[in-house]
Amino acid sequence: MNQFLETKIEFLKGVGTAKATLLNKELHIFTFADLLWHLPYKHEDRTKIYKIIDLDENLPPVQVKGLITRIEILGEGSKQRLVAYLTDGSSEMELIWFQGIAWVKKSLQLQVTYLVFGKVQFFNNRFSMVHPEIELFDETAKQQTGFLQPVYHTTEVLKKKFISSKVIAKWIRTLLEQPQFTIEEFLPSYLVEQYKFLSPTEALRQIHFPQNSEQLHKAKFRLKFEELFLVQIKLLSQKTYRKIYYKGQVFQNTHLLTKFYNQHLPFELTNAQKRVVKEIYKDMTTGKQMNRLLQGDVGSGKTIVAFLSMLIALSNQAQACMMAPTELLAEQHFHSLKTYAEKLGITIDLLTGSTSNRERRIMHERLMNGNLKILIGTHALIEDSVQFENLGLCIIDEQHRFGVEQRARLWQKTTSDIYPHILVMTATPIPRTLALTLYGDLDLSIIDELPKGRKPVITAHRYESHRLRVYEFLRKEIKAGRQVYIVYPLIEESEKLDYKNLHDGYAQIKKVFPEYEVGMIHGKMSSAEKDLEMQRFKRNETQIMVATTVIEVGVDVPNATVMVIEDAQRFGLSQLHQLRGRVGRGAEQSYCILMTDYKLSKESKIRIETMVRTNNGFEIADVDMQLRGPGDIMGKQQSGMLNFLIANLAQDAHILQEARHHAQAILDKDALLTHPEHQALKQHLEKTQKEATFWSRVG
Ligand code: ADP
Ligand code: MG
Repeated sequence: MNQFLETKIEFLKGVGTAKATLLNKELHIFTFADLLWHLPYKHEDRTKIYKIIDLDENLPPVQVKGLITRIEILGEGSKQRLVAYLTDGSSEMELIWFQGIAWVKKSLQLQVTYLVFGKVQFFNNRFSMVHPEIELFDETAKQQTGFLQPVYHTTEVLKKKFISSKVIAKWIRTLLEQPQFTIEEFLPSYLVEQYKFLSPTEALRQIHFPQNSEQLHKAKFRLKFEELFLVQIKLLSQKTYRKIYYKGQVFQNTHLLTKFYNQHLPFELTNAQKRVVKEIYKDMTTGKQMNRLLQGDVGSGKTIVAFLSMLIALSNQAQACMMAPTELLAEQHFHSLKTYAEKLGITIDLLTGSTSNRERRIMHERLMNGNLKILIGTHALIEDSVQFENLGLCIIDEQHRFGVEQRARLWQKTTSDIYPHILVMTATPIPRTLALTLYGDLDLSIIDELPKGRKPVITAHRYESHRLRVYEFLRKEIKAGRQVYIVYPLIEESEKLDYKNLHDGYAQIKKVFPEYEVGMIHGKMSSAEKDLEMQRFKRNETQIMVATTVIEVGVDVPNATVMVIEDAQRFGLSQLHQLRGRVGRGAEQSYCILMTDYKLSKESKIRIETMVRTNNGFEIADVDMQLRGPGDIMGKQQSGMLNFLIANLAQDAHILQEARHHAQAILDKDALLTHPEHQALKQHLEKTQKEATFWSRVG
């Protein structure tokens, strides 16, 4: 980047120190470059002037030109409003103000031509605009019409100091008109030719002040591609770098795996499971560190794959650990893996926040002297001072709840000088665009097949008036020997969780089903209490489990066949899908019943309909991303990585695909970017890399 772009913003004509300080604080704008990258979030169409007679409520904000013929003040108190009648020869419309009435009244002139801009409504049988932008029409002033006007994000503080979108636009225009303003091309020339990209300089000009809609699209395309491409090339070069430089232990031996496979495997693996185990084994024999993501829908059987992978490490005198996001889940993994491990006489233990210091000390010792082979735990596993004698494999379940840094901290857990192999599992399917961004540096394995004999869960939407029939249905299922979950949403009020719904529900269920045992589980219980309740349910000592979403993740009771979700409209899509995944785990037909009010928001309706329509987690994840945006569906920790300046993962999947493809192709040819045609790119990456680390230190 050149010096011009790095100039401090206070040196821009019309800004000065006071406004510069505001821009720093409010919008993180420090330099000319920052201002130029403050992109408009939309453009208002000033290319056209509409006739009143042609207006339509469904139009975006539009321009109308006409004379004001009279002005009235109507209504009283808070309803008081000023109405100006505008006519353009085709018809008449109302311009309405609720605020600043006196001032507007004084400034409006009758019988002169105005240009107004605003959102059209149709009310009381005529068109109107509330609080339109209005200015005298000036035949000679070119800026008034014939262009797409950029609209910039500002803040209340800035607006008070008269730094409006229009002012920002003016500043940016000034910058763009400076002869020093240029940005050097850093994409390889063959890509520029192939896609006929605008130059970076032109793209930035057109994104702010497009000549026309086509130029705007071209600018967006270039900038989106560039943004996604840079992320992909960074991720993929990390991956390439690791592949070249990071050694991994070579795990050739498989005797424990073979023994378990031949003698103790509780079911036949699906083809997908077999394929994935092979992929993992292959990684572990290459002498390079494995960094693999295992994606599979709920119930696809990732746990056994995890265990078989551990056995590969253990067959080679190494240890393995597995980290889960909640205590409940860690405990459950511990219980299921323990039954497997015992068959082979393998030692296994559990480390969570509730593990006592005394137990910890013993555990530490056994890990260091190699007597303890498998450790399951929560993030206590990273925080603890625990070290392994020879950690060969780390498995991270439900990775998206852990930050990338936490992942890296697990690497340091071994006294061996070679980093452990890493297997990351996600139970929540995530859209491909997100996977490529969040886990773009990992190799990907997918279990895309459910165990044989699984029947897809039947999902139904029911209203309050069906409640008795729903209870009848539950009774029938329990009579047939099955079990039922009933899940209540927690109501969050001023950060306190309200358990009233749950307790009321529990009392009601006990009354309705006096002949059965009802259990309850929620987040306020200690993990020992939760564990006890879960174990009782697993042993079918309770037939109905009333719960909050603590059972959302990973809980496995194959005999449970019905999942009732109360107030289902309150849950997000991925949560609903996770909850539904708690049933349909055995051979029996399972059901998910979504109870809701009659009144549903448009979004809730889409969520419920999606759940009823499909069991496919990837499809559901996609709808979820369209509804909520990529940042929200992955939670705070990752939203930073998913919030792009201009690209949008929910909409730009195809651009991402292309960007990824080219990034990979470049690294395949030129892993360290030494070719002359990649020098500009390399420099650009080094520059932005420096900035990124600088800002992460400041932030
Ligand atoms: P998830 O992928 O959601 O973690 P789990 O590993 O918990 O799924 O497996 C779900 C259930 O399916 C468990 O009860 C598990 O024992 C069972 N299971 C896994 N693989 C198979 C298979 N190949 N055949 C039959 N049952 C299987
Ligand atoms: Mg699981």
